[in-house]
Amino acid sequence: MTKLGWSILAIILIGLAAFGSMLSFGSGEHRASAVARVQAKLEQSAPDNAGVLVVPVAGVQRAALIDSWGDARGGGTRAHHGIDIMAPGGTPVVAAAAGAVEKLFHSNLGGTTIYVRSPRRGWIYYYAHLSGYAPGLHEGQVVRAGQTIGYVGDTGDAGPGNTHLHFSMTRTGAADGWWQGQDVNPFPVLAGKAAGR
Ligand SMILES: [Zn+2]
Repeated sequence: MTKLGWSILAIILIGLAAFGSMLSFGSGEHRASAVARVQAKLEQSAPDNAGVLVVPVAGVQRAALIDSWGDARGGGTRAHHGIDIMAPGGTPVVAAAAGAVEKLFHSNLGGTTIYVRSPRRGWIYYYAHLSGYAPGLHEGQVVRAGQTIGYVGDTGDAGPGNTHLHFSMTRTGAADGWWQGQDVNPFPVLAGKAAGR
């Protein structure tokens, strides 16, 4: 669907949710489920709805984010496919969007990482260089946006003391594995403005 199409869909959904909440006359349960449905739709269309994701590091403002998509990495052997959010070690990493923890993985580049799959499996949100996981975090666990899932660190190829979160988002087909899909620049939907390059 086009960007305009997603925007129109989002407006219609918000309108429907508002109408639904009027009909329910203070039924908190109905209102909550209507809001959840709208959020699910927005989450599904995240790349075309600027600012819809939660900034995944506690205490970091959208305005402070820097677009590092496409920067040279690995001595120029590859382009950066994500955003680096600088923060002190141990700062809580929170889920940018709701989903289920699909994979907890340790790799040479990413270090300690988390892959969260969106409810309709259309997106993977990736969190890397963590110092550790939130207590009890496990594969299959459902997380809500804003929930603490780990802590900022410098594991993998971040470099000692270069504590930051590497966050990326990948468009996936429903049948794709956690290692598949097409990376998309997360900066616009995190910062609420167009990519800086
Ligand atoms: Zn990075």
